[in-house]
Amino acid sequence: MQAQATGKTLLIRNARILVTMNESREEIPDGALYIRNNVIEQVGQTADLPQDADEIIDARHHIVLPGLINTHHHMYQSLTRAIPSAQNGELFNWLTKLYPIWAGLTPEMIQVSTLTAMAELILSGCTTSSDHLYIYPNQTRLDDSLEAAARIGMRFHGARGAMSVGQSKGGLPPDRVVQDEAAILKDTQRLIETYHDHQRHAMQRIVVAPCSPFSVSRELMREAADLARHYGVSLHTHLAENVNDIAYSREKFNMSPAEYAEDCGWVGHDVWHAHCVQLDAHGIDLFARTGTGVAHCPCSNMRLASGIAPIRKMLDAGVPVGLGVDGSASNDSAHMLGEVRQAMLLQRVGFGPDAMTARQALEVATLGGAKVLNRDDIGALKPGMSADVVMFDTRQIAFAGALHDPVAALVFCTPANVDCSIINGRVIVREGQLTSIELGAVLERHNQLSLALAQGVD
Ligand SMILES: [Zn+2]
Repeated sequence: MQAQATGKTLLIRNARILVTMNESREEIPDGALYIRNNVIEQVGQTADLPQDADEIIDARHHIVLPGLINTHHHMYQSLTRAIPSAQNGELFNWLTKLYPIWAGLTPEMIQVSTLTAMAELILSGCTTSSDHLYIYPNQTRLDDSLEAAARIGMRFHGARGAMSVGQSKGGLPPDRVVQDEAAILKDTQRLIETYHDHQRHAMQRIVVAPCSPFSVSRELMREAADLARHYGVSLHTHLAENVNDIAYSREKFNMSPAEYAEDCGWVGHDVWHAHCVQLDAHGIDLFARTGTGVAHCPCSNMRLASGIAPIRKMLDAGVPVGLGVDGSASNDSAHMLGEVRQAMLLQRVGFGPDAMTARQALEVATLGGAKVLNRDDIGALKPGMSADVVMFDTRQIAFAGALHDPVAALVFCTPANVDCSIINGRVIVREGQLTSIELGAVLERHNQLSLALAQGVD
């Protein structure tokens, strides 16, 4: 341990309440955290921890909790929120309206929209995010997203998406936005070899992620699984999102989406699927047995009227479930704490008032997300975990009158923004402001690019 005893130390103390998400789900009043470099060294009551550090943050008015984890997103879609022609359709209709607009994406658009999406996530309590980029027109690359993540300082799982079956072959996307399958696999391999960090506390991982069963071939699904397993990286795609998705799978493959996933090698601890709104009992059992994860995206499911995912059943069966805000065009609001709230509310609409508690929803967004991303170093505040910590100020109007139970208030009341966020030991938000980028300038450019992208198409 001698070698670890050097480096910058950060002490967060006097927390009004500190939510650990440890094995006993302990919540510590007057809690404190002692961080060295990028790792949590001690957690406990303020009086029991060191009294000094290189930097001290007083959290006497704050709820302190593990950074939230977003397991599904398409950050480039932040450029196409609330597009008039795509406001009121279901999934396939919505995609058909948007594909031609997205065909105009440029590398700068990917970079600026990723920064914007990450800023929104970080301010709303998220410290780790996945992003599923599956459309690569005009020399855009996943490298553009990875650069943005490094610039803002977010822990990032970049999913190399892909579409290869265009309209002429019976797929949904127009031919001009699909790619050759050999080129897809080659680029994915390049990304893994260039960027993937296997080590604990990694800030950057690569995920192999063909877009969906209705936009790539069975061969690509299988080869993608082989590639991911060769390198020991995770797999991600969309699955069983709505009833049309089920009908497509039945018609094209004569299988349910879960059967198709199993047939292609897409089950296991290293796989997670977005949505699974229509996952049947067999699918839930299969996912539980194999440790296959689900990214639940309640706002997107409501926005596109996809249905209510059976999350209560999945959790009871032992399926790993995390939360995702999904692409900004099908959610339009990428507020991570807001998504936690919607997850709780939507389960209640579907399955009764005891279907999900506030604390269960927070657990899905922390420990659940970590499990889905196949990580054991994030999602809880414990010694040895990555120093990803968020703090919410209880003095805001949203919490007025709700301090009987500040932790539940976080989920029941109006979704708040963080006052402070620490990612990998680095203070990324201080007094509600991002420290790593000039947000105003980024948003101004984002809005220019957004209008340019939609112009002439919509
Ligand atoms: Zn999605």
